[in-house]
Amino acid sequence: MKVVVLGGGIAGLCMGIYLHQHDIDVSVNERQIFSAVGGHAFLMHHDGITVLNELAINSNALLPGKEVHTFMLRDSEGLILNEKTLEDWQCFKRTDLLACLNQLLPAYRLKNNRVFSHFIYETDQIVAAAFSNGEVEYGDVFIGADGANSIVRQQIFGEVKFEPGKVKEVVGIIQHAELAGSLQGRFTKFQQKDQGLSFGLIPTSATEMVWFMQYDPLLADIPEGISSRSSGQYHEQLRQLCLNLLKDFPAEVQEVLKYNDFRTSYIWNTRDFDLLPSFHYQNVVLMGDAAHVALPFTSAGTTNAMLDAKTLSHCMLNYPSLPAAFSAYYQLRADSIKEHVNLGRTLRDSFLDATSTGVIPLISTVIK
Ligand SMILES: Cc1cc2nc3c(=O)[nH]c(=O)nc-3n(C[C@H](O)[C@H](O)[C@H](O)COP(=O)(O)OP(=O)(O)OC[C@H]3O[C@@H](n4cnc5c(N)ncnc54)[C@H](O)[C@@H]3O)c2cc1C
Repeated sequence: MKVVVLGGGIAGLCMGIYLHQHDIDVSVNERQIFSAVGGHAFLMHHDGITVLNELAINSNALLPGKEVHTFMLRDSEGLILNEKTLEDWQCFKRTDLLACLNQLLPAYRLKNNRVFSHFIYETDQIVAAAFSNGEVEYGDVFIGADGANSIVRQQIFGEVKFEPGKVKEVVGIIQHAELAGSLQGRFTKFQQKDQGLSFGLIPTSATEMVWFMQYDPLLADIPEGISSRSSGQYHEQLRQLCLNLLKDFPAEVQEVLKYNDFRTSYIWNTRDFDLLPSFHYQNVVLMGDAAHVALPFTSAGTTNAMLDAKTLSHCMLNYPSLPAAFSAYYQLRADSIKEHVNLGRTLRDSFLDATSTGVIPLISTVIK
């Protein structure tokens, strides 16, 4: 059996490694030269770390990351509202994780500079993937792991209906030894009481932190399409937006904004779509963000991508036929994905609701 994985992000690489470890002929086809582009860092809980260890990554030794043992919720004046212990959570930089995964796959399995364009059919059966550079990869199974804007998904199921994005997120990463030291493994989130506005800080090392500002774009926003995202004007607009929205937040927040290099920050339009009725069509199957996207409030996108790889590879290796394997994969993953989509929406609505008085459950109960 020859498996062609389309997209070499976290889902695609994990899938490639699992299949390679079981001597399945697999190629991972990625559009970038090296896919570690975009995204700063993410939280991962023990399910994802278990997958990392199964893939032979001793995450402590090989993958720089920082244990995050506490979640602290504070209000926008700095008052502590809630504090809870997190078990087995780590913060990893996306570039570090991708570099590690790339090393676990032999070079001949990785095919870069391949932008998937379309499938080639023979008598109604998909037999090959074609790339925009003219290259073609024949196979028996095709796995769409090409992220939230998946071309593979679009070609087998058509356009999905994304829920309109009601929350946006500005993300950044800064070096600041004093502040990172003071966080000491603590994910701190400052939440404005009566508006959809929050600021989070997560240490990625002894000297570095990632930060994010989640905001209701109805409060204030940057006009879309006026300036290019790589322009100095855009970065200045981004800085002004954060300074303006967060002007009453505590000193730690002001310190981050003061030292942040806004050329490395960007706005992430958070969005999701309903659970698909199936993840496969004929010999094509979807995984990771290509298969499902939930809102970021549950911090589970990466872990879910890795769990997809574990489950799908297990099903492909152990079920008697591909249709049976793909159906079992869907059955095993669908409930949990649906729960994350729904929980993300509940947390978003709570975040946006100015009348909501309770403490907002910012960490998913599903993935505790
Ligand atoms: C700012 C930000 C913050 C996040 N924070 C968190 C967090 O805290 N916790 C968490 O768990 N998750 C978080 N996520 C989500 C997480 O990054 C994704 O859910 C996860 O990376 C999904 O992995 P994936 O492999 O399915 O998709 P991706 O990582 O998007 O990988 C898709 C790959 O496919 C490639 N590709 C796309 N199109 C093509 C094509 N046509 N041909 C070939 N290759 C193609 C891309 O280059 C990419 O390498 C965050 C995401 C962002 C953007």
